[in-house]
Amino acid sequence: MSMNNKQRHAEVVGAGFAGLTSAVALARRGWSVRVHEQGSQLREQGAGILLWQNSLRVLEDLGLIDEIYAGSMTPHAYETRMQNQTVSVEPLTDVWWRTMTRPFLHNTLATAAQREGVEIVTSSEVVGATPSGSITLASGETVEADLVIGADGVGSAVRTSLNIPHERQMSRDGITRFLVPRRKADLQKLEPDTDWDNMIDFWNLDPRVLRVLYTPANDDVLYLALMAPVDDVEGTEVPINLDVWTSIHPQLAPVLEETLKVEGKYFRYQTTRLDYWVDGRIALVGDAANAMCPALAQGGGCAMMNAFTLVEAATAASASEIPEALIAWEAIERPYTDRCQTRSQNYADTRGMSQGNQFQGEVMETMIYNPTDPNRGHLSVKGGLA
Ligand SMILES: Cc1cc2nc3c(=O)[nH]c(=O)nc-3n(C[C@H](O)[C@H](O)[C@H](O)COP(=O)(O)OP(=O)(O)OC[C@H]3O[C@@H](n4cnc5c(N)ncnc54)[C@H](O)[C@@H]3O)c2cc1C
Repeated sequence: MSMNNKQRHAEVVGAGFAGLTSAVALARRGWSVRVHEQGSQLREQGAGILLWQNSLRVLEDLGLIDEIYAGSMTPHAYETRMQNQTVSVEPLTDVWWRTMTRPFLHNTLATAAQREGVEIVTSSEVVGATPSGSITLASGETVEADLVIGADGVGSAVRTSLNIPHERQMSRDGITRFLVPRRKADLQKLEPDTDWDNMIDFWNLDPRVLRVLYTPANDDVLYLALMAPVDDVEGTEVPINLDVWTSIHPQLAPVLEETLKVEGKYFRYQTTRLDYWVDGRIALVGDAANAMCPALAQGGGCAMMNAFTLVEAATAASASEIPEALIAWEAIERPYTDRCQTRSQNYADTRGMSQGNQFQGEVMETMIYNPTDPNRGHLSVKGGLA
């Protein structure tokens, strides 16, 4: 911890994975930190999440890895099926990965932030920000900080108020996500030879595109993500059209039925690219800066690793040097996220994950990136994969 940073103050906008990760990291490095969350409660609305090495390294550095292990799992393998024929079974033993529920990850980060003395203010909507390091709340109050982190998600008000040029690309597909009981015994009765502790990517492209991503999140909970094209009225219905989904994926009937008992929302995914992530004392992270298609399961991972490295860069600088430090941070870190976004977008456009054996070579670059390695800026793509 740098003694120079003791009196420094950060305002963080948004209590999602990006905002909470940066808040914990800042507090652990001696900053005073306040997080503004527009919601009336601290909660994560999504279902499950897969984290790769990049974000697990961050959680390890923040002292949270034991807690994460207690409520997560590593599936036996990533299996890809096309029209229910197995295309590939990738054990992914060379890479660190865990699956878990989003509420669990969110709660772990929020609890850690509170433990570290972060002030989290709910029902606190931020409506504007200036490069000098001020934010304006919906109440009209304006507050100043040495560093402002805009982690307010894909519709970022911080980004809008700074007029940062950006483009948005909507995907042709979307996903409805659920957390349901595993019901492993019932699934085993229907398909005894299947390893139901695998993560299984059930693709179906003919006669219609209906994909189920089956992800065990822990011993008890299954994360189901049901993908259908935006223009498929039946496929995008919530509650799901059970007849349609079970006619294509009959072996999943027990868990598809369970989705009718819980809330779900169809979500069309998108890619957001900004001309720049940094303006003066303000830096954008997470979906506010780089929302991406979920093909490679990396949006949250990039959010957490960029939040972490941003805090490292700002902490290493003196208060007056922060704007320059943020520019340097973006120059080093952004290319990894940009390439990951492009690859994820490409997979979404081509539905290329359906071919199996996709977790190989340069695709793995960002997943295996180590944001806690002080020498990471020197890694070339090739070096990073060595
Ligand atoms: C279908 C799908 C599957 C995915 N699967 C994975 C996966 O397996 N692995 C992975 O790593 N990533 C995955 N992602 C991506 C990941 O979910 C996101 O990238 C990540 O949640 C973004 O976190 P964030 O903190 O940037 O934004 P958010 O989670 O959107 O958090 C933003 C927070 O800011 C608050 N807020 C917004 N505006 C304001 C305001 N003006 N003032 C105050 N507060 C505000 C919001 O209420 C919210 O709490 C997936 C995404 C999708 C769509």
